[in-house]
Amino acid sequence: MTVTVRFAPSPTGRIHIGNARTALFNWLFALNNKGRFIQRFDDTDIARSKQEFADAILYDLHWLGIFPDATEYQSRRFEIYDAAVERLKAAGVLYACYETPEELDLRRKVRRTRGLPPVYGREALALTTEQVAEYQADGRRPHWRFLLPNFSGDPLQPERTEIRWDDLVRGEETVDLASLSDPVLVREDGTYLYTLPSVVDDIEMGVSHVIRGDDHVTNTGVQIALFKALGAEPPVFGHHNLLTTVSGEGLSKRTGALSIESLRDDGIEPMAVASLAVLVGTSENVAAAHDLTELASHFDPAATSKSSSKFDPAELFVLNRVLLHNMPFDEARDRLMVLGIAGEQAQPFWLAVRGNLDRLADAGAWWRVLREGPREKPDFSDDDRDFLHQALDLLPEEPWNGTIWKDWTGKIREATGRKGKALFMPLRLALTGLPSGPELADLLPLMGREGTLARRP
Ligand code: GLU
Repeated sequence: MTVTVRFAPSPTGRIHIGNARTALFNWLFALNNKGRFIQRFDDTDIARSKQEFADAILYDLHWLGIFPDATEYQSRRFEIYDAAVERLKAAGVLYACYETPEELDLRRKVRRTRGLPPVYGREALALTTEQVAEYQADGRRPHWRFLLPNFSGDPLQPERTEIRWDDLVRGEETVDLASLSDPVLVREDGTYLYTLPSVVDDIEMGVSHVIRGDDHVTNTGVQIALFKALGAEPPVFGHHNLLTTVSGEGLSKRTGALSIESLRDDGIEPMAVASLAVLVGTSENVAAAHDLTELASHFDPAATSKSSSKFDPAELFVLNRVLLHNMPFDEARDRLMVLGIAGEQAQPFWLAVRGNLDRLADAGAWWRVLREGPREKPDFSDDDRDFLHQALDLLPEEPWNGTIWKDWTGKIREATGRKGKALFMPLRLALTGLPSGPELADLLPLMGREGTLARRP
């Protein structure tokens, strides 16, 4: 069996880190099992779904390193769902209901006061032909419910019916179908809710593993019943825990909180996002993986916690620094070029500054410091200014070799008697304008003798 997974967001907003977790769990699972990854847009809600969001989601996935084997849109597949509806109707497991939301609400309240679970009581099954004719004459159109297989003879007498599966993440799971309402699959206006198209597509597309957030655990009970009603073997399911903000709020595509786009705009590296999105809330150490193949080797769905996990963006910066500090020039080259960092000096410059960067784009500021000198001239005491004049007078002639910094500062120490911070800090401030930064031993050759002398205070 070829492993086939799918990532199935509704294109109603930009994806956030929690959605990325789902996408990556699927992608890494496919990677580890030589499987296929289908990008499926659950866009049956035509009013809220937008092509621009679908495009943006694909862009975000590509940025993370996910390249789907196929891309599908549910909005182009209505005929397939219509055919499934006819099959379910013919099998007698999809039935017409005429209640208004207000009527349903009232019924639920009545059931509660009687101590009954607030599920749909299947009253529509008992409608007479006359009542149906009356509703229709009133212009009411039916919505359609799936008759859950939770009874042995009389559907009005549901019995405990356990649906069990061995969850890839959570282990043994059980949902009691008698605790659920028959789900509405088709609305009055003929539009589809998520449940049926999802199952039909999982069957049609040969999806072998459904990996998604644990907000879908109950749905899975219903969907397994629906797979069977459509004559199909249910896939393997895995439900990972959800991520929340540090204050414990759920993430939403609507608010844009922790969207992949905003993290990218903040200068976070894709592998920092991917590493944290996958490893947070698992028993694995959160460390920055260099690429998705390496991350896949640390990925084990069963190692995921069952309760939700807090996602702290500050951790992203820690991973970001690690990735930048280890990033070879070849990987950074094109992006540095966009920042105007090119030519012979680009590589030694990168190797000199990468260890000091929070974001790759910060390299631009260091490049300007080297090219144009400090942004602001520091104020020096008379003492320090004299010291610096003396030091610059000792700067050796070119050509310089690899020990120029050591040679020069050795001479300065000898001539001035200064050492340690008293020696290095005025030099650092004069050369860069900043009290900290990359090793001066690496920066000095990039400034050259002329550039260094030009920094004379
Ligand atoms: N569109 C659904 C969601 O984003 C898909 C759930 C599923 O993977 O089946 O929650």
